[in-house]
Amino acid sequence: MALRPIRRFPDNVLRQPTEDVKTFDADLRRLVEDMAETMYAANGAGLAAIQVGDRRKIFIVEGHVAGGAEDAPPVVFINPKIEWLDEEQETTDEGCLSFPGIYVPIKRALRARVRALDVDGNEFVAEGEGLYARAMQHENDHLINKLLIDYVGPLKKQMIKRKLERSARAEAEEELAD
Ligand code: ZN
Repeated sequence: MALRPIRRFPDNVLRQPTEDVKTFDADLRRLVEDMAETMYAANGAGLAAIQVGDRRKIFIVEGHVAGGAEDAPPVVFINPKIEWLDEEQETTDEGCLSFPGIYVPIKRALRARVRALDVDGNEFVAEGEGLYARAMQHENDHLINKLLIDYVGPLKKQMIKRKLERSARAEAEEELAD
């Protein structure tokens, strides 16, 4: 397993179209393992493949967030389709590993049902509530190139862009000082 660098906004790859997974092989397995390691290292609740620069339609959700035990493995969603969204909605501050330090209030369905394939190509249906439902909707957004920043107005967009530029600059300076 290996960590893969997480692409941050405004990296162009986050806006590139994603592609269905057609081959369920060792390469796919390796990607999913690397995604899990990368997500844990960044303390994320979920991660989409496009966030590590791979355009295949894959996302993972942390196992505990997905309703499993504290140490449950992440749930892997391949070629996912949102089947149902509850009419009942909830607004909660949401973060994204591609927008470090940024939190945006987003209104989402309180419950969601998603049909997907696992790493072996077997179909399954996942239904979740609260944070799990939110995580599935957030990660699925990545597969259709929809980002946190698309949910806010023009003023907040500028603020987010500036804040990310500042932190990227600070990190680059820190690296130079090392
Ligand atoms: Zn995200």
